[in-house]
Amino acid sequence: MTATAEQRVESLALATHGISKLQFYGQLARYGRLTISDAYPTAATDGLNVWCNPDFIDGLTDTECMFVYLHELTHIAQRHMELYDDLKERSAMLTNMAMDYEINLKLMCLNAGCDPAFPLVEIPVYKDGPKQGEYMALYDTQFENMSVRQIFGVLWEENEEGSPEAGDSPEAGDSDDPSQYSQSIQDRMCEGQDSHDWMEVDENDPESQKKMDEVSKIIKTAIQHSTQFAGDSAAELGFKVEDLVEVKTPWYEILRDFMIHNKKDAQYSTFRRFNRRWVGSDMYLPTYESTQVGEMFVAVDRSYSMDATSAEAANHLRVILQDVRPDKVTVLYWGSSVYHVDNYDASNYHEFTLDSIPSTGGGTDAACVAEYIKDKGVHGSTFECGIILTDGCVYSQGEWGPLNIPLLWGITKDGDTDFNPEIGQVITLD
Ligand SMILES: [Zn+2]
Repeated sequence: MTATAEQRVESLALATHGISKLQFYGQLARYGRLTISDAYPTAATDGLNVWCNPDFIDGLTDTECMFVYLHELTHIAQRHMELYDDLKERSAMLTNMAMDYEINLKLMCLNAGCDPAFPLVEIPVYKDGPKQGEYMALYDTQFENMSVRQIFGVLWEENEEGSPEAGDSPEAGDSDDPSQYSQSIQDRMCEGQDSHDWMEVDENDPESQKKMDEVSKIIKTAIQHSTQFAGDSAAELGFKVEDLVEVKTPWYEILRDFMIHNKKDAQYSTFRRFNRRWVGSDMYLPTYESTQVGEMFVAVDRSYSMDATSAEAANHLRVILQDVRPDKVTVLYWGSSVYHVDNYDASNYHEFTLDSIPSTGGGTDAACVAEYIKDKGVHGSTFECGIILTDGCVYSQGEWGPLNIPLLWGITKDGDTDFNPEIGQVITLD
């Protein structure tokens, strides 16, 4: 008697526990549900659970089936449901493709060290028809060692080049309709691709946000637990588990995005010109076309615990400022009061520093920064956004509400990790 799709997938899921390389996946799978259903044409994930279509599974060999199953689990491990919102907004289709390219290259690394006659996974291929022998999944060695962001950048550019009339429109590429994409992107798309049906928050339903937070917690716990459990055996994966799970956006990238999105006349970013500074690192940032970058402030809490962090933050800010080139940056040194002010503009961003001024000791009260900014406003200065660097141990946060300035709190990693601002976003400078 031949096994049903359900039995096959379940036995493969079970097998992951016995293959040391795959124990990470075996653990991870315990947190979500596996459903055999024809709700999706091939396989699918919503970020926690996995679906497999029985007819699709029937057409696969066991090693292909394992590939598909692990593909879905890798989406979960990389928290694709929660990440890359900025890319998804630009083009959900290209983001999905970039994720798949990245995952599939990683999965093929699982075969490293295996007897070539007995690979752990194989990319599914068409068994018959005009595409016989061709891959049913997105696979391109051009993207080896590239991050999802980097791959997205290449795909975006490829799409723009191939659709000249759509090239300048911000909506270019923002469509679920394949025919809206360049021919080369359409050629890349394949029917065998899985479905990414990420859970989404319904903004009108408070329960929805709560549920999403719960799911997010489950996923994080699952990843943590699975990484611990897999321990040494994870070393056999051929790639580091940390590489697999640590896709956290670096804080300075968030900070850079914050500055750009809050600037005057912010325009659409474009990947047409690569930002050379980041090529080769894990980032592949768009070049921003706008030249209208307004005035901002960076307020640095100079209590003693800040020394090492502010030096590192200054290094990152120097690079960002030279690239984004705001009209003006005012640096405020504060403790119980704002006791020193430096001004920077395009002529001296290369000299940007945050540690020329020693601490005065004494209290730490962010209210003095809000007061200073309010006073500046009265005297004609218009800050478009502000960044406050602090350990978060402050007497008060200050009255930011009435100032209506987008605010980003950068909290040192040794600082108050529970810091929860009334106004503004928060990042940890780790
Ligand atoms: Zn996928």
